[in-house]
Amino acid sequence: MKTIRSVKQVITGIPTSDGDGVQLTRLIGSPQLNQLDPFLLFDAFGSNKPQDYIGGFPAHPHRGFETVTYMLAGKMRHKDSAGNQGVICAGDVQWMTAGKGIIHSEMPEQEQGLLAGFQLWVNLPAKAKMIAPKYQEVASANIKTEIQVEGVSIKVLAGDTEQGTKGVIVNDYVAPIYWDITLKPGTTFNQGLASELNGFIYVIAGSVKVADHQPLIEAGQLAVLTAGDQLQIQSQQEEQQKAQQETRLLLVAAKPLNEPVERAGPFVMNNKQQIQQAFADYQAGTLA
Ligand code: FE
Repeated sequence: MKTIRSVKQVITGIPTSDGDGVQLTRLIGSPQLNQLDPFLLFDAFGSNKPQDYIGGFPAHPHRGFETVTYMLAGKMRHKDSAGNQGVICAGDVQWMTAGKGIIHSEMPEQEQGLLAGFQLWVNLPAKAKMIAPKYQEVASANIKTEIQVEGVSIKVLAGDTEQGTKGVIVNDYVAPIYWDITLKPGTTFNQGLASELNGFIYVIAGSVKVADHQPLIEAGQLAVLTAGDQLQIQSQQEEQQKAQQETRLLLVAAKPLNEPVERAGPFVMNNKQQIQQAFADYQAGTLA
């Protein structure tokens, strides 16, 4: 017997700013939802006003987890202490494993126009918090899109689908799923989702029905999924939709680590002593 996943909690997020005044909505990593193991933070940003993003995220450190940037619109340039740099554009993903330490900056590579996307923080298990930093940066053209059934397409950033489409991102710790799903009106995304995974959806456009849950999950909302092993997400019929024809959402899921989490600013470790060590290393210039 399959257990259909429903909605446990709906999060609308808190408007905040980070970096040098970048306006964003924090959906995970706030009092509404501190974490969803192994996810520590989920931010959505999107604005066509340069003053909302032009300051970017100047150089700052990280240790003990991974940061994932997925762009919907615009361009960001990143640079880090290991000498890596590049520009990510709409549809590209950057999965950065901070490991024992990295200092990086992410700055808009544009002075006007829309800049939009997401930042997700994925925790590392205790045994991997001090590994060497690593980057997986993949252009949109190299990410596979599966047509699951007519009207349902899945861009597979991480994790494999039931039909066997493979995600481009490698992560052996929490088996993450990160899919960008587009639904035509009146279609249903139907997919097995291993029961050990914690997961959420974030609606980018339109509104969706998750199993039989009411009310619908609207654009800009994050829904934490209940336990289960099957996911059914429906778009609305054409006549019920307002302006847009397409419904679009992210599905993000991974295995929980079930380990103690001690976080302070840009560092996420297992205990206070390790956090103090991270600050000490950063001050001594030995973090990265
Ligand atoms: Fe960062």
